[in-house]
Amino acid sequence: MSEGETHQLVLLPGDGIGPEVIKAAETVLCTARDYLRREGIELSWEARPIGGAAIEAAGKPLPDETLFAAQAAKAVLLGAVGGPQWDRLAPHERPEAGLVSLRRALSVYANLRPAALLPGLEGRSPLRPGHVQGLDVLLVRELTGGVYFGEPRARSGERPDRRAVDTMAYAEGEIRRVAHVAFRSARRRQGRLTSVDKRNVLETSRLWREVVEDVAKEYPDVSVEHQLVDSMAMLLVLRPQMFDVVLTENMFGDILSDELGGVVGSLGVMASASLGDEGPGLYEPVHGSAPDIAGKDVANPLGAILSLAMLAEHSLDLPLLARAIEGAVKEVLRQGLRTRDIAEKRQGEQVIGTREMGERVADALAQDLHSRQALNATYF
Ligand code: NAD
Repeated sequence: MSEGETHQLVLLPGDGIGPEVIKAAETVLCTARDYLRREGIELSWEARPIGGAAIEAAGKPLPDETLFAAQAAKAVLLGAVGGPQWDRLAPHERPEAGLVSLRRALSVYANLRPAALLPGLEGRSPLRPGHVQGLDVLLVRELTGGVYFGEPRARSGERPDRRAVDTMAYAEGEIRRVAHVAFRSARRRQGRLTSVDKRNVLETSRLWREVVEDVAKEYPDVSVEHQLVDSMAMLLVLRPQMFDVVLTENMFGDILSDELGGVVGSLGVMASASLGDEGPGLYEPVHGSAPDIAGKDVANPLGAILSLAMLAEHSLDLPLLARAIEGAVKEVLRQGLRTRDIAEKRQGEQVIGTREMGERVADALAQDLHSRQALNATYF
């Protein structure tokens, strides 16, 4: 990103705690915008409805206006969708269908989910400290193929003979492109990649492994191993520190990434980026709409704020801003500030709400950026 550019973002708050965590991320975004402006870089954004909010406002979970705005944007930051009030709708009418359609429409086939222990939160992991010390995994999940999209997909028959079918399908090109994303990520990290499949049972997994081995030849500097998904589920609990980049297909990735969320002990701080070859990236915290705590100002907005950092890195090409946002999050944690979900009631900790957490991170970011300016350096 260079001087004189204006970049348009779209915020999709969604449902439940989505609007609360996106509001907190927006507070941080405002601070970033003010400083970027001094560097000649303009950021602007607009909010649009998706999910249940869009069903109420426009009768469907992904209105055309929302889709067009997202497609025209540089990047999209989403909160979460869903809630019990829409659970009885047909699958294609539900809030979640809006999100799945958006991912598909933006062709964001690679979902990046970093899982690391944030400083001060080590005690949140249910695993013994020795098992999680140094844990730093990047899960790369294929996002637009596999059993969530395969056809046929249907139900038939009447009780007691009802049947249902889903289809897991992968084309070679779908595997190849996400494998490249994972290998490139491994190159920028520790140079180790673990590809996860179910080759002993599934045809799609046999193809998956063949294609990953092909792609591996183009990355001789990255070491590759393969794991079966069942054994991987166990290893992520037994020895999560042994992994660097983990590559897997859509459904296995869905399950393993939640397991990683459990291992780091705080769903609320996990961020994600969904990327394609071109067009906007889609950034969202890993958690859902958490209806049980919605509207109470207790949700943890750090996952949304760290998703904003990923947006700065991957869509705005501002890695230093990304590091500054991550640094601001670490700083508020160092100060002992916690939302309720990550509080351990230790001395020196102060429990604060969603809104205040956003403000504190924005303050820490402003202080960091200000001190950099005082050094008279150009950082972006
Ligand atoms: P969830 O992630 O919403 O909540 C699981 C648990 O974690 C709840 O106890 C919740 O209070 C807590 N939690 C989640 N995020 C938190 C945060 N930021 N701060 C503090 N606590 C947090 O998962 P769920 O309860 O299985 O699903 C609720 C709804 O969200 C459903 O309608 C589901 O379909 C939807 N969902 C949406 C997405 C998405 O939009 N990407 C992802 C998962 C689930």
